[in-house]
Amino acid sequence: MTDEEFRRPIGELDDAQRLARAEGLDAPGIDFAAFTEGRGTLDAHVIPLVLPSAVVAAMLPRGLQLAPQPLVGPDRHPLFLSFAHNRFEAWFGVMDYHELLFGIPWVEYAEERMPHRGPFIYMPRLLLDGALPQLLGERVYGYEKLAGGFSRTGSEWHVADAAGDTAVTAAFTSTGDASPPDAWPSFAWARKLLEMPTISQHGRRFDRDARITGDADQRFVGSTVRYLFAGTDWDGRVVEPTIEPIAARVTFGTAMTLPDGLASTAWATRSIADDVLGSFRVRTKQIVSAPGDPADVRMPPGGGRKLKIAVLGGGPAACAAAYWLARQPGEYDVSLFTMGWRLGGKCAAGRNPDAHDRIEEHGLHAFLGFYRNAIRTVAEVYATAGRPIATAEGPVEGAFRSQLDVGVVDRWNDRWHYFPTPLGSNDRIPGRVPPGGEDVRADLALAFKGLLRRIAGELDDAQDASIDAGPLERALALVRAPWREAMASVVAWIDREGDIAFERFVETPPAASRPKTWMISILKQVRSGLAWYYEDRARSSRTAWFQWGGLDTLLTIAIGLLVDSTLDLDDLDDQDLLSWLLAHGLEPEHADISTITQVYETLFAHAANLPYRTGDLACGVGLRWFLLVSFGYDGAPAYDFRWSCPETLMTPYYEALVACGAKIHFFHRVTGIDVEGQGDAKVLARVRMQIQATVKNGAYDPFMPGVAKPGAPAAWPIRPAFDQLEQGDELARRGIDLEDVYADWPGVGERVLEQGRDFDACILGIPLGALPPIVAPLVDAAGSAFDPRWKAMIDRISLIQTVSAQLWFDRDAAAMFDTSIAAVEGDARPARGLLTGFVHPQGSLGEMSELIDIERWPSPPPELVTYHTGALVAGARLPAPGPATREFPANERARWRVIFEQWLRSNHAALFDGGPRDFESFLAALRVPAGSTATGVDRLWAQVVSIACQPSDLYVLSRPGETAHRLAPSGSGVRFLLLAGDWTKTDLNCGCVEAATQSGMLAARALSNEPRWVWRVGY
Ligand SMILES: Cc1cc2nc3c(=O)[nH]c(=O)nc-3n(C[C@H](O)[C@H](O)[C@H](O)COP(=O)(O)OP(=O)(O)OC[C@H]3O[C@@H](n4cnc5c(N)ncnc54)[C@H](O)[C@@H]3O)c2cc1C
Repeated sequence: MTDEEFRRPIGELDDAQRLARAEGLDAPGIDFAAFTEGRGTLDAHVIPLVLPSAVVAAMLPRGLQLAPQPLVGPDRHPLFLSFAHNRFEAWFGVMDYHELLFGIPWVEYAEERMPHRGPFIYMPRLLLDGALPQLLGERVYGYEKLAGGFSRTGSEWHVADAAGDTAVTAAFTSTGDASPPDAWPSFAWARKLLEMPTISQHGRRFDRDARITGDADQRFVGSTVRYLFAGTDWDGRVVEPTIEPIAARVTFGTAMTLPDGLASTAWATRSIADDVLGSFRVRTKQIVSAPGDPADVRMPPGGGRKLKIAVLGGGPAACAAAYWLARQPGEYDVSLFTMGWRLGGKCAAGRNPDAHDRIEEHGLHAFLGFYRNAIRTVAEVYATAGRPIATAEGPVEGAFRSQLDVGVVDRWNDRWHYFPTPLGSNDRIPGRVPPGGEDVRADLALAFKGLLRRIAGELDDAQDASIDAGPLERALALVRAPWREAMASVVAWIDREGDIAFERFVETPPAASRPKTWMISILKQVRSGLAWYYEDRARSSRTAWFQWGGLDTLLTIAIGLLVDSTLDLDDLDDQDLLSWLLAHGLEPEHADISTITQVYETLFAHAANLPYRTGDLACGVGLRWFLLVSFGYDGAPAYDFRWSCPETLMTPYYEALVACGAKIHFFHRVTGIDVEGQGDAKVLARVRMQIQATVKNGAYDPFMPGVAKPGAPAAWPIRPAFDQLEQGDELARRGIDLEDVYADWPGVGERVLEQGRDFDACILGIPLGALPPIVAPLVDAAGSAFDPRWKAMIDRISLIQTVSAQLWFDRDAAAMFDTSIAAVEGDARPARGLLTGFVHPQGSLGEMSELIDIERWPSPPPELVTYHTGALVAGARLPAPGPATREFPANERARWRVIFEQWLRSNHAALFDGGPRDFESFLAALRVPAGSTATGVDRLWAQVVSIACQPSDLYVLSRPGETAHRLAPSGSGVRFLLLAGDWTKTDLNCGCVEAATQSGMLAARALSNEPRWVWRVGY
């Protein structure tokens, strides 16, 4: 209250101000900010309810929405009623009051780019019978605390509004003994319901139903209510909380406006003894924090039983989910189960002890500069693993190498040519968590702005100066001047617009925006002018041809997004990227240019209709990928792993998980889940696993001793440490591969995890290709748990077999690549770094020679190693395992060898444009392990040549019309079951480590409020 307000006659004050005056709280000089926390006791009857999501969402104010949650099906949401008696002792005196409230847990900001979106508890209705708490609640916490009248007779409550009209009558019947919280397994979940930071509206104006309309500048406040369920209180006294199962009969009166669909007549509920969403009475002590910015409010660790989380799978998604949960001390008991002997999944690799400990990978792997979640998680994982690398420059140093040599190979005048891509580095810091909302960028809008600037940059004078200009060229350069000026005016305009304003600009239909019509017409004029300008030049100069293809692509993307008026790129996912570009005016001759095909190639978007690829890649996924890869990166456009992908990524994950107390169970192959109940009441009851082998001393050490260099992360082997396994001799003798589901190995036993006993929640991190037999109850149309969304996802989302090779050479890069082409301007090295766009099916190449240094070749070591990767044709279905398909992997490998040899024979001279022309000499340049006498083409088979021929290894595609069938990490529709994988619905919807990591983070956050900051692309 201001001085002026304080001097006003009491009759001019509103009720709250009068109350404040009466209590002496609003006098000048009394500072509410002095309040830091309130301590007291709680005796509450809590009645969880489940209502349709739309009904619950309608109780939220503008700016908030329902967040994913693990307890009920996708179209429903839990909330609870609480009838409480609170007593607090605060710095200003004692508050003793009754309160009736509705609480909606799992609420988040609707704005995706908040630093911490939630989840929070929002309380849309609160009635209470104390002036002080009402005042505090309204003034300080921003709750709508309405005055109410409470009368209690035994276990019957009657609550009326200020006018005396009945709001609620309730009767509670105890159905069991009041016992410590741990006596009720379901209470571990009920706690989750209560223990989230609360969010409320600062200085809000209420309507009677607490439904806020139209306040665009809504500000929110956060606070925490911590219930003491174990340990000692603030005075060091042992707390003795009790939980008592109750049945409840509640009738709403006329004074309570009810959410639609909630019957006003009496109803009874199940108790906590029967159900995680059952009713209970809780008596304990509580600490209420002072309110603050919701971004800063952090739930203090709770007491009581940890939630047991079973994580299935050991790839990047499962590990990210496991890590973000395990690192919360005292909260989660994480057990990770994976088949085989190593972590990594499609990012796995091993050292081959029979070939100088060379690294044998699934395929070429790199991180892209826009991987904000993955890079940030790596930094956190390294810190937890005791390998701190997060420097002021960001988390990259120490784990990655910036990769600036990125380029494409493209075909011009019937010959393949290498074209470095002019990306360069920037001074943004990869993986850094923005310190506050103001720093969170509209990434796609920014990338789009970058694209417009690039177009203008490509047209600038420097480009003309580089042209070896004759008189005609000079004349044409003059002709180009107006386009250059037009683009300069576009850039000047976007530079003036803030990022958010620019987003709005993009999303406004052209008909409603003159500047937009103006910009589209300029871009179209520039494009047709350039078509004329480049018409002849592109035939005579490969640089001009490549430049024109790039400009045409960039201009067409800009025009297409402005015409379609969307940055919400999921909306375009029913179309194919290339078809969309052609529809927006891309020159048909550019349909196969690498500027576009590289997007297909890096997402393995291959179908049978090569080379045009129409129909292979969801437009929204492809555009988002292109914009972020090209214009949305931090630091470098790409990052190579300093010690190979699995050693850089998965070894620290293993160390960090162990350091957090997570248990990692290798040799556990999940075979099925049991789902009980139907419709919205489906519950994950059991997880069934085959134990593949027994570990001799109980604990398995997955690493190879003495292989990694000092200080480097430990190395994973290409096969298990047989000496640590009871069945090791037999497995070795019979050559059984524990990652091969076709192998003739029944395992050594079964393990069944029961919900409630062995786990509270389960995170399914197994890839889509391996899921059909595991999730059969959800996919079987005849079964009671059938869910058509699961069936659509399993049936409709395409998978593909990736194919890879690693070639070691006794010649260096200068001897194998055309030295006249530098990847980075001014760089004389002939390095190829990362390139893509080459002949199917091995379209991508990575030069990984730095890794030779950590392999253990005899002197002199090889001088060059190249990793090749690509995919066969989409839609592959692998046969079911069984006696008839034992040889399937071997047959597939033989099939791939034939294709690979053919491919290399035809294309080695084009790809290795400085190397030997004839195939025999090329083969002779390959390095084979010491002792190998291989000659001719057999030298190829002494390299690594691999094909994905296991269901788990199939790569998930993002084809038009398919991404809508993905289920979100918390969209399983089965209680206690969360999903994590690059196949789930994320902001990227494609197969990459960033999507996998985001998925794992979102699964963790649906359970735990952490990680607080998950980077969302913004759309
Ligand atoms: C050749 C190739 C190259 C790639 N290159 C890149 C790249 O450069 N950059 C990039 O970002 N991404 C790349 N990717 C994609 C990336 O590897 C995946 O997106 C990522 O590994 C997916 O992680 P995930 O955890 O969802 O699944 P996965 O990595 O597939 O992990 C799944 C895990 O589940 C386990 N599992 C499977 N079945 C069972 C079962 N029945 N029981 C128990 N456990 C089981 C597996 O053992 C594994 O641990 C590439 C993929 C391939 C195939």
